[in-house]
Amino acid sequence: MPHPAERLPARITPLGDGFTVRRALPLGRRRTVGAWCFLDHVGPVPAGPSAGMHVGAHPHIGLQTFTWMIEGELIHRDSLGNDLVIRPGQVNLMTAGQGIAHTEDAVREGQALHAAQLWIALPESRRHGPPAFEHHAVLPVADRDGWHLTVLAGSALGLRSPAQVHTPLVGLDLCCTGAARTTLPVEARFEHAVMALSGTATVEGEPVEPGELLVFGTGVSGLDVATDAPARLLLIGGEPFAEPVLMWWNFVARTQDEIEAAIRDWNQGDARFGTVVPGSLAPRTPAPILAGRRLRA
Ligand code: MN
Repeated sequence: MPHPAERLPARITPLGDGFTVRRALPLGRRRTVGAWCFLDHVGPVPAGPSAGMHVGAHPHIGLQTFTWMIEGELIHRDSLGNDLVIRPGQVNLMTAGQGIAHTEDAVREGQALHAAQLWIALPESRRHGPPAFEHHAVLPVADRDGWHLTVLAGSALGLRSPAQVHTPLVGLDLCCTGAARTTLPVEARFEHAVMALSGTATVEGEPVEPGELLVFGTGVSGLDVATDAPARLLLIGGEPFAEPVLMWWNFVARTQDEIEAAIRDWNQGDARFGTVVPGSLAPRTPAPILAGRRLRA
């Protein structure tokens, strides 16, 4: 008996220079999948004349940024002193806690780029804590019925990702070079979502292709994942996040006052966000002010 799914079209945002970002979370009424509260699918951008991605210094609070690099290379620099290149098959996990700032720059002009950038809302117990950063060059992988799985976060098939997360959740990359079909065991207490990063597939008989998110509620213990051609899927899931999530720009918080304080602190250059290792080709980004707007969870 197939499980009913909710189908959400991503918002497609051209970023100039041939870049396309498909934003699949937050989207309308669907704000989170587990603690995953933001999902951008970046590219794929083929190698060419593009100047490459350059994101100047900007802050975060209350979340973890999770970068899954599929193609291309980015330099990550942050206010903890980290300065390193993320390459295909690797994950950067940056925990903002009370405040961090970072930059992201393509290693060289004209390079291809394909990545997923996600945010994970931090629970009350961790969101006021110190910032942290992890780079994972190697992640656990498994082959199952034609699918090649990489365990990005949480655990699957008895394998556990080294990425340190703070609520029960999972992130998987599923890739195949031809026809493949498996029933993937998943946690019944989790809700899940699947996005195609390339190619097409079916999940529980529902077609999924790039630019849309297929969401499954809790109570599902296995997902039938099938395709007859090369494809790459991103699966995320987690225990439904019970805390209210207030989002503005790069901030995740609980109250309007917290957001306003973060905007003020960043725009005034408060020590809270530290100083990012210099080197980005893009300028520091000021936080947009709320200008009387009331945010709602
Ligand atoms: Mn960021």
